Amino acid sequence: MTKVIPTTGITIIIVGLGIAGLTAAIECHRQGHKVIGLEKKSTVYQLGDIIGLSENGLKVLSQWPNANGTSVASTLTSLGSELSSVEIFSSAGELKYTIPFGADSPVAGLFLRRSDLVESLYQYATSELGLDLRYGVTVEEYWETATTAGVIVEGAERISGHCVIGADGIYSKTRAIITGDSPEEDAATLLETGGAIFRSTFDASAVATDPDAQWVLQDASTHDRHEIYLGKDVTILMGTMGKGKYVWWNCSHRDPTKATTNWVQAASIAPVLRYIQDWPIAKKLSAVISKTPQGKCFNHSLVTRKPIRTWVSRQGRMVVIGDAAHQFLPHTGQGANQAIEDAAVVAVCLRLASRSNDSSSREEDGVPLALRVMEKLRQVLGPRVSVIQEGSVEAQEVTLEADMDTGTSGDRFNAISRPAWIHCHDCVSHAHEEFSKVVDALNKGEGNCDAYVPTNAPMDGLFHAEDDYILQSKGAV
Ligand SMILES: Cc1cc2nc3c(=O)[nH]c(=O)nc-3n(C[C@H](O)[C@H](O)[C@H](O)COP(=O)(O)OP(=O)(O)OC[C@H]3O[C@@H](n4cnc5c(N)ncnc54)[C@H](O)[C@@H]3O)c2cc1C
Repeated sequence: MTKVIPTTGITIIIVGLGIAGLTAAIECHRQGHKVIGLEKKSTVYQLGDIIGLSENGLKVLSQWPNANGTSVASTLTSLGSELSSVEIFSSAGELKYTIPFGADSPVAGLFLRRSDLVESLYQYATSELGLDLRYGVTVEEYWETATTAGVIVEGAERISGHCVIGADGIYSKTRAIITGDSPEEDAATLLETGGAIFRSTFDASAVATDPDAQWVLQDASTHDRHEIYLGKDVTILMGTMGKGKYVWWNCSHRDPTKATTNWVQAASIAPVLRYIQDWPIAKKLSAVISKTPQGKCFNHSLVTRKPIRTWVSRQGRMVVIGDAAHQFLPHTGQGANQAIEDAAVVAVCLRLASRSNDSSSREEDGVPLALRVMEKLRQVLGPRVSVIQEGSVEAQEVTLEADMDTGTSGDRFNAISRPAWIHCHDCVSHAHEEFSKVVDALNKGEGNCDAYVPTNAPMDGLFHAEDDYILQSKGAV
């Protein structure tokens, strides 16, 4: 039976209903806050291909019970890839590593379509929880006072609450309102990494009758395929999802031509075929890539962002989460997972900081304290997000430099890295355990926080790109 949490009386306005915003809506409701979600797109439909949920993200979703007695995490598992392993090949097509990955792995993980993930979160938020989510509503302005915060939407409607969560993605408007940066200063925090990625997902029927391409569907009705082909400066990932229902592929590459940063601009597959034309395995991979339906391939540059100055507004009633606060490259598979963690942590902090369950004085609602603690837990005192941000850039470089045929990349290379400090983290328990310690540190003054010992990131502040699961299976740790 669902535990009923008393309401806090805090109304939270969430701007943007991607993975961060929808998770924030659900988690804030579960923590007893009232939620109003605003999304500029008119429908819930989201583009994108394969997205990874690792154990740290799934842990949050596994706490959401469905009416049928299962959890949202198990619904997602039924939509995702059914894998037993991830296989790593050289550009010659030689199998170099088989990484166990599936139901029996101690480290959980799931790959699924981004649109299926967003749709499932939306269904849960609306059909099961009845949350107030409004689509086709663009937020144009923001305001806050000592006791309230809100937004003005297109058409001049003013929506008021006690807290605004900006989950409005990489080109967030909320971020510059919070940092006080001009548009030029905000744009300057974006970092080009010199990499770009072609991505595609399409219905498996496109390859089913092609004798050269149908290899990708072989045995997929029992086990999906997830293969990684590593060549110098180009990496191809290819596989199936939904037990052979969909085929997906992507191609990370160095980007001298400067691809667009727009995720939704269709691209030609011709450059991909050119990049791999000299690979001994080219014919096999090209057969599948060539079957990509028109308009189903996208190429965008891989950008990240310098850690921003602050996640919290001056009066402490507005905060950014997800891609609006930080952006990762796909090589660490943490875009969705860190957005989920942000959302869960902000919801818990807002509950823990609310002084009484039905406070009539909104000055007592604890929102500014909650948001400051959340920011400190995620980025400042516990540098979890910034370490992953830097790690994702390092991981891109190591992957593009990997040369499986000569073996020169040797021990630096990790095809998939699942460091335990990321994957085994329980962000909800951590927020409960650390909340009062961070409050104490803040009370001593910003300059006197050295005594706080972070437990959500490595002590040395380095990423540690190990795959702890593989090390364990070899008995090395
Ligand atoms: C189109 C797209 C495709 C992607 N595909 C993949 C993928 O295939 N694999 C992968 O690993 N990662 C992918 N990502 C990245 C991944 O989804 C994110 O890292 C992660 O989900 C966190 O996203 P978010 O919710 O913070 O931001 P987003 O997913 O960008 O969501 C932000 C939302 O805010 C809305 N919004 C923005 N401004 C306003 C406003 N003023 N008023 C109201 N609403 C507003 C936007 O319409 C959007 O729905 C993709 C991102 C995008 C944008």
